Amino acid sequence: AKAAGRGRMVVFDPEMRATELHRVRLEADLAQALERGELHLVFQPVVDLATERLIGFEALLRWTHPTLGPVPPDAFIPVAEATGLIRELGHWVLEQACHTAAAWQRTYPQAQPLAISVNVSGRQLADADLGRFVADVLADSGLPPCSLVLELTETALVDDPARAAADLGRLRALGVRLAVDDFGTGYSSLAYLGQFPVDILKIDRSFVAAITDIEHRSPLVRGMLELARNLGLETVAEGVESAVQRDRLRAEGCDRAQGYLFSRPLDSTEAELQLVNLTGR
Ligand code: C2E
Ligand code: CA
Ligand code: CA
Ligand code: CA
Repeated sequence: AKAAGRGRMVVFDPEMRATELHRVRLEADLAQALERGELHLVFQPVVDLATERLIGFEALLRWTHPTLGPVPPDAFIPVAEATGLIRELGHWVLEQACHTAAAWQRTYPQAQPLAISVNVSGRQLADADLGRFVADVLADSGLPPCSLVLELTETALVDDPARAAADLGRLRALGVRLAVDDFGTGYSSLAYLGQFPVDILKIDRSFVAAITDIEHRSPLVRGMLELARNLGLETVAEGVESAVQRDRLRAEGCDRAQGYLFSRPLDSTEAELQLVNLTGR
């Protein structure tokens, strides 16, 4: 056994899974990624389904590791959540996203309304300081609160629904909008959805993927859209990759969409070009 930082022990057992070794390494490197400038945001366009007009972007975190290259967020976000580093990373993401969106709004006023969506992990939501931090970032950046969407996964909400509802209520009082992310992938989501003060429901891409060239109908997607309508929620479909999916979602009354059919996530220069195009039209 060998000591590995902060008093934790790592047993170098030949049977040890490669993924665990990898995780320990990521954990140590991630702690320095921010100060080393290895993190950046990309921005995926969100379009209005009826018009296909760009109405905002979702900010997604990217980490370029000095030797491993790009590490997907699905690999490092859980590490950041487990170590508590997500607080610092989450703050950085919020700051970057709000300042970038505010600058875009100032430069391209014709692109209004331009929303920016930021992913917030369950650990961040539980942080008593989150509301104050969001308020500070909005004030510093000058971004109108209604332009900011905070996306929370349902798993982050169902752990302690009463507490989550109170936390959400405080955030929403700031004037920001709240979205339930990856809807349908957690469990007992339906039982709680009506209790959460949220504005937007994001249909997970696994349900969108069920709409295929052979089977255009999807009773699950239809059911979720109907549920959202009954609750007065705006709907966003994720992972739209085909025209068949777009057409079906539009026919079923889904409000907005994002996915490779419209655009992959873009770096800030490419995203800004979308705004130039929008303005020129
Ligand atoms: P998510 O919030 O569900 O983000 C959508 C993911 O779907 C993104 O993956 C995006 O690149 C991908 N995607 C977009 N369109 C399509 C499509 O048409 N087809 C397919 N197959 N995929 C599509 P990404 O960027 O790898 O992020 C993965 C997850 O990591 C995110 O899922 C989110 O849960 C988490 N994440 C990313 N950035 C942050 C962050 O700043 N903070 C937190 N807490 N989590 C983040
Ligand atoms: Ca999201
Ligand atoms: Ca999602
Ligand atoms: Ca997801």
